[in-house]
Amino acid sequence: MSEEYKLSCFKTFKMFNRAAYALLLILCLLTRGSEITKSNFFMFYYLGAFLFMLLADEFIFRPKHNKFPYLFLDIRVYLYPILIAVGTAFCDVPGVFLVVLLSLIIYLTCQDLVFTDVFNTFGNYVKRIIIGFICGALILYVQYRKDITGVWILVSVVSLVLFICMLMFIYHSHYITVSHLDDRYTRLYFKNADMISENKKLLHFQERVEKVNSEINYQKINLTKANDDLAKINEEIVSLIGVMKYFSASFNVENNAHKMLENVVEIKQTGAVALYLDKDVYMNEEPYLEVISDNAVAETLLKQDIENIYNTILRRKSVNPLVICDNYDFKYPYLTGGNLCNAVVFPAYENENIYGVMVVTSSKYDFFENGYAFYESSIMDFTSALISDRLYLQTEDMAKKDGLTKIYNRIYFNQFYPELKDEVEKSGDVFTVCMLDIDHFKRVNDTYGHLAGDEVIKAVAKVDNDFAKKYNGTAVRYGGEEFLLILRGKGVEETLKILQEMHEIIKNNVIEFEDFKIQVNSSMGIACFPETCSDIHDVLDRSDKAMYYSKEHGRGRITIDGREGEEYK
Ligand code: GH3
Ligand code: MG
Ligand code: MG
Repeated sequence: MSEEYKLSCFKTFKMFNRAAYALLLILCLLTRGSEITKSNFFMFYYLGAFLFMLLADEFIFRPKHNKFPYLFLDIRVYLYPILIAVGTAFCDVPGVFLVVLLSLIIYLTCQDLVFTDVFNTFGNYVKRIIIGFICGALILYVQYRKDITGVWILVSVVSLVLFICMLMFIYHSHYITVSHLDDRYTRLYFKNADMISENKKLLHFQERVEKVNSEINYQKINLTKANDDLAKINEEIVSLIGVMKYFSASFNVENNAHKMLENVVEIKQTGAVALYLDKDVYMNEEPYLEVISDNAVAETLLKQDIENIYNTILRRKSVNPLVICDNYDFKYPYLTGGNLCNAVVFPAYENENIYGVMVVTSSKYDFFENGYAFYESSIMDFTSALISDRLYLQTEDMAKKDGLTKIYNRIYFNQFYPELKDEVEKSGDVFTVCMLDIDHFKRVNDTYGHLAGDEVIKAVAKVDNDFAKKYNGTAVRYGGEEFLLILRGKGVEETLKILQEMHEIIKNNVIEFEDFKIQVNSSMGIACFPETCSDIHDVLDRSDKAMYYSKEHGRGRITIDGREGEEYK
């Protein structure tokens, strides 16, 4: 029997025992009161004995013991019968009371059985014999005191045998019941253990199923994300193809730059983006900058810092992206002061040579978490388009410009001059054509050689070109040593002042070639539409004539069409 079961018996036994001892105490008093026995000693002895047993049981059957009280229970099963038996030796116990005492011993013995785990051991046999002996002795002694006779001895012996048999039977039947219960308990125990282990396995299995389930869910989330990412990448690739198509149909670098930036903003939903291209990258004389922004502060910051950013990239000598600001963490002192959260610089480079930068900014957290591939491909596509655009521009430029002086040639002039005349006619602008011819140029060739002559032609062309740039006009090499300066929106007087300045510069310009110092003078003619010439188609011819007038009238001077009598230098 398990200790839990035994402990649960404590409560029941205590209750029954209290009732039994109470009845015995009453019986004791009744036996004396009815004078079945006249012995006061009997009354006090058994009152005392039963009270002792009552209190001892109260102590032994306490529900809370540190250790199960086997010792107390063992002592109890010997002590109580002895106590009962000893009483019979010293006082006059009536026959009825004797039966009650024997019943009490049986009752106590039965209780003891509940706490006995191992039967048929030597200890148990001894226990049964001792208790049987006590009871036998009790019976015999009582009978002896009553002038025992032969029949009574026989009755006593038979009673003793019967009593011992009864005890043996009780022990045995209890043993069978307990063994049976034990057996069932053991089977149940093992069954329970099996169930517990099965349960554990099931729990383990359940845990695994839950884990697999959560992994599947996690993978599902990942797959959904991967799918979204793929869709996004696809969208990016399609957009890049669209941009490439645009590039292949356009030779305009600035339009291409705008298209690329627009695509970056649209696909990536960036805050502000900027593209900076150094000068002379696509025959541009000034650096190129374009900013697309939905935020005026970011735009101002980009415009203000882009040159410094570009110089930092040049100094760094790496074509990898440069993180300026990573989730509000500014690593360089650029673009601060707005509410930018992320900013990355993508160098634009050609054969490792950096020629510009694209700066992408955003006010969103973790904006660049998917990497830089899209931006890098954008800028690389732009670069390959730029290389072919530049080649186109160079070829076009070569066709338009004169190989020696790099200013517009006669062929290009013949193409654009009619268009210019149409435009001027429509707009009603004033426009002047100035013809210039180097005086006695043949002598230069003859004296210093053709190479020196070439240098002189280049020097004069440069002056012509500088003036064209300064006054928003066009410089053309019209013939061998003949040049044109075409100006719009300037009348005769204004043009005359410009030409006088130019004339002076050419005259005073000392061209050094080898050991020679060469100086040339020039003759010029001015014709102006509509001031000097009302027919726009005659302006060129009239300027030529004015120039010839200068030649024929002393060279080194300026002649105004229709005002040939006036000499200007
Ligand atoms: P003028 O004062 O009347 O203009 O006399 P000029 O000697 O300048 O006039 P001319 O037209 O007789 O001579 C022009 C010369 O320019 C003839 C030609 O050999 C030379 N010439 C034309 N093109 C070039 C060139 O590209 N390089 C060199 N070195 N000489 C050139
Ligand atoms: Mg000439
Ligand atoms: Mg000449």
